[in-house]
Amino acid sequence: MARGWQDGFWRLLQGRAVVKEARRRAEVVAAAGTHEARVAALPDSELAAAVGTEAEFLAVAREAAVRSLGMRPFDVQLLGASWMSSGQVVQMATGEGKTLAAAIAAAGYVRAGQRVHVASVNDYLARRDAEWMAPLYRLLGVRVGWIVNASTAAERRAAYAADVTYGAISEFGFDVLRDRTVTAVADLVAPEPAVLLVDEADSVLVDEALVPLVLAGQAAPAGADEQVAALVRSLLPGVHYLTDQQARNVELTPAGAVAVESALGGIDLYAAEQVGTVLPAVNVALHAQALLHRDVDYLVRDGKVGLINQSRGRVAQRQRWPDGLQAAVEAKEAIEVSSGGEILDSLTIQSLVGSYRRLCGMTGTAVAAGEQLRAFYDLRVSVVAPNVPCVRVDEPDLIFATRTEKNAAIVERIAREHATGRPVLVGTPDVAASERLAAELAAAGVPCVVLNARNDAEEAAIIAEAGVFGAVTVSTQMAGRGTDIRLGGTDGADHDRIAALGGLCVIGTARHAATRLDDQLRGRAGRQGDPGGSVFFVSLDDDLVRRHAPRTDQDPEYRIRHAQRVAEGADLEIHANTWHYHQLTAQHRAIIGERRDELLRTDRAARDLARSCPDRYAEVAATVDEPTLIEATRQITLFHLDRCWSEHLALLTEVREGIHLWALARERPLTQFHRAAMTAFREIAPTITERTEHTFLTVEITSAGVDLNAAGLRRPTSTWTYLVHEQPFGGQSELRQLYGM
Ligand code: ADP
Ligand code: MG
Repeated sequence: MARGWQDGFWRLLQGRAVVKEARRRAEVVAAAGTHEARVAALPDSELAAAVGTEAEFLAVAREAAVRSLGMRPFDVQLLGASWMSSGQVVQMATGEGKTLAAAIAAAGYVRAGQRVHVASVNDYLARRDAEWMAPLYRLLGVRVGWIVNASTAAERRAAYAADVTYGAISEFGFDVLRDRTVTAVADLVAPEPAVLLVDEADSVLVDEALVPLVLAGQAAPAGADEQVAALVRSLLPGVHYLTDQQARNVELTPAGAVAVESALGGIDLYAAEQVGTVLPAVNVALHAQALLHRDVDYLVRDGKVGLINQSRGRVAQRQRWPDGLQAAVEAKEAIEVSSGGEILDSLTIQSLVGSYRRLCGMTGTAVAAGEQLRAFYDLRVSVVAPNVPCVRVDEPDLIFATRTEKNAAIVERIAREHATGRPVLVGTPDVAASERLAAELAAAGVPCVVLNARNDAEEAAIIAEAGVFGAVTVSTQMAGRGTDIRLGGTDGADHDRIAALGGLCVIGTARHAATRLDDQLRGRAGRQGDPGGSVFFVSLDDDLVRRHAPRTDQDPEYRIRHAQRVAEGADLEIHANTWHYHQLTAQHRAIIGERRDELLRTDRAARDLARSCPDRYAEVAATVDEPTLIEATRQITLFHLDRCWSEHLALLTEVREGIHLWALARERPLTQFHRAAMTAFREIAPTITERTEHTFLTVEITSAGVDLNAAGLRRPTSTWTYLVHEQPFGGQSELRQLYGM
């Protein structure tokens, strides 16, 4: 009781503080307006210096944008910039000009002496935004750079040396990972994390937060088994294995286990010697067979399995599933199994983001992600109203009993809109669905452009023309996000004619797992006060409804709302649980990282060995000079530290893969996982010490230093980076098992 009262009281106080803060920021923006005439009279050379108060800074930034970009930032853009400089996530609708608002906020941080990383959605947008905003930055005396996947180490260092650096969040993370393998300070690339400004903040901070970024090295043969793949292919769904209602887990039935055992020559699958080897191989093959669908979850192209990123509906470049699963899918498709290499280090986007001292961001849909943003990042959300009120017409859902009826109605509606010349943008749940729809449209005589699995630049060019007279564009949810859709196309020539037809018509072909994602799609229409419309087609046998609201006796509209609420709740819970699980590894990683940094930058390794192996130390010191000796001890210790960490990660993977066995044994999986991870971690420091001393005592150290290769201690000769796709195995199904959900 008392607690509830206190909470309520706190919230009231906080609410008041928020209102006060909002009023103050609005006043600052109004004050910026009063400086406009004076600032406009200043020559370029005096502009950057004319900033004292925040209002003056905003006035100068506005004037600089007018002169350098030909755009006069609206009050709402200055307001958005102001909120971002206070460390918040602003909600500003699509097309409101967040790119410019972000540049002003970033320049504000630089003025306060902070370096800023701007996280863009992809390489293409990172470069586009940095180049687009460069003239503004230049006039404000701010240096800007950008990185993309192809950037060299030298280019990256140059980009990081700027005040503001644009890049995809994964690129910032890959640099952090690679820096954890260097053996000389001069090879470091990434700077100390300072301020991070995140574009499309909800998708990065919520939807992709737990995607691990991975650094792998060396080539170790992966153990995918074609025999097991063939065996699993012969099993019957419903008889030999069962998938759960959510289609996120699959399990052998007793009959299935018997079939597998006899096919493998009468072994006992659950005997101790199979539990660590054959059983996981069968499980992973079953996952690949039963839960991952070609053209929905992945494409097979050029003899390779390409993951489809569900949220963007595109082949995800540089993404893999966890190694076992990747190999199992390759075996399922009977293509050559690619080597996964050995994981040297990994990092989730969430823990990367957490390493920055200051965080802010922007997106069209922040409020709906507000709870997660607060819980996981302690971030607050503020809403900035559109510059011109939004007049988009959002029709109520059109609900059908079956998908067949729904699809027919979708095609009919598109054809009807298209006949008037009104541009139509259709959102589909996955690549297969968009290709099916395109075929149906073609049969109905409606030509369309399908947007999927292309590169970002091409995709942007296509989506930019989605507002052209008569255009029909079929896309998956996130495709082309970040690209402006102007009525009448990039040149806006036909704007008025298309506005008269009702503007862009957005059609959703199924509700998403969260209303926030529906809103992202709707937001593509009605930009900057333009007319526009949106409508979703839903059928009661859509996956979402069937899975989460299976009761057919309920009211259809209620079922759809309910299904979305259940899906959102489940995702939130998984996120929270997954977070707890990653948290421990992140803490361990930070401890190891601190030690590594000390070894890299100081003579700690030499001091340790002088103490633990004094005789040997004296012996070597008699023949080589001190810097050589210090460097040799550093190389030896770093080698073993890195080795032990990557062994630790491999062990954790093994523990995770075995987790369902604990579930069978009725032990709490999370507790078990934590216990195993803690035990293993406690071993790391003594193991590093022991191996380091052993090497130091036995390896040859000459005036040329230490030759670790000659001693058989090889660092990976090549490394590469990728993202591990969160679903369906590496994240959710695995974690469902982990948490017994
Ligand atoms: P968002 O990221 O909010 O969806 P963008 O930054 O991509 O929006 O900008 C959308 C469009 O609005 C761009 O074409 C940009 O040139 C235009 N724009 C932004 N700010 C202004 C402004 N103050 N005046 C005129 N046009 C603007
Ligand atoms: Mg944008």
